Amino acid sequence: MSPVIEVVNLQKVYGSGATAVRALRGVDLSVQTGEYLAIMGASGSGKSTLLNLIGCLDVPSGGSYRLDGIDVGSLNERQLSLLRNRKIGFIFQSYNLVPRTSALSNVELPLVYAGLGRKERRLRARAALDLVGLTDRARHLPSELSGGQQQRVAVARALVNAPAIVLADEPTGNLDSESTAEVLAVFDRLNALGRTIVVITHEDDVAWHAQRTVRVTDGRIVSDTALQGAWAAR
Ligand code: ADP
Ligand code: MG
Repeated sequence: MSPVIEVVNLQKVYGSGATAVRALRGVDLSVQTGEYLAIMGASGSGKSTLLNLIGCLDVPSGGSYRLDGIDVGSLNERQLSLLRNRKIGFIFQSYNLVPRTSALSNVELPLVYAGLGRKERRLRARAALDLVGLTDRARHLPSELSGGQQQRVAVARALVNAPAIVLADEPTGNLDSESTAEVLAVFDRLNALGRTIVVITHEDDVAWHAQRTVRVTDGRIVSDTALQGAWAAR
């Protein structure tokens, strides 16, 4: 089976001349459908840069990237944003919910962009909220939810489109241990349902849930290991 993520010799340089920063220095990475991968590494090592490229939020300076068989480098802006909407669910450390609208409306947003009708949107958004255990919070505003609940709304929003991959950049970085456990339980459930998940984390207990961990140092992958943690035990 061909990998859902196939990155070859990926490079990213920010800026130019004397102030240029080489954030990625030739990354090779293949991820199969259904894998649960953790990316670890020191602050500034290039983790977010890599995830942003995988998530089509930014374009590389060199190398190639195929997402679900599509050569991302050959796409124009419009095609990229379509691909992002169809194939990628992104979760940020800071939730990034729209503040003055309900959990349900937040989850519906990607479906609005995808052009779905109101009724279908409601159905799918409710199903996504069910999946993250927030059935009874659909009408709440983000400010009426705990950090863990807000992040689970963000997870529901990320998966409502049935994306090929779910990407999360330090999703539990702002959460206490109880909320962290809630969010990790949702990731476990999603992965058990066959979703491909890539999560950046500093925390060993987050990586413990994943099937595989890659470590990034100075813009390069320095190790790639299958784990003996929760994933292996299940
Ligand atoms: P990590 O997520 O591992 O902390 P990043 O990918 O955010 O690392 O950053 C990698 C390197 O690239 C760092 O040296 C950082 O300062 C630099 N960098 C990240 N984003 C930008 C940007 N938009 N402009 C310039 N330099 C950047
Ligand atoms: Mg980062």
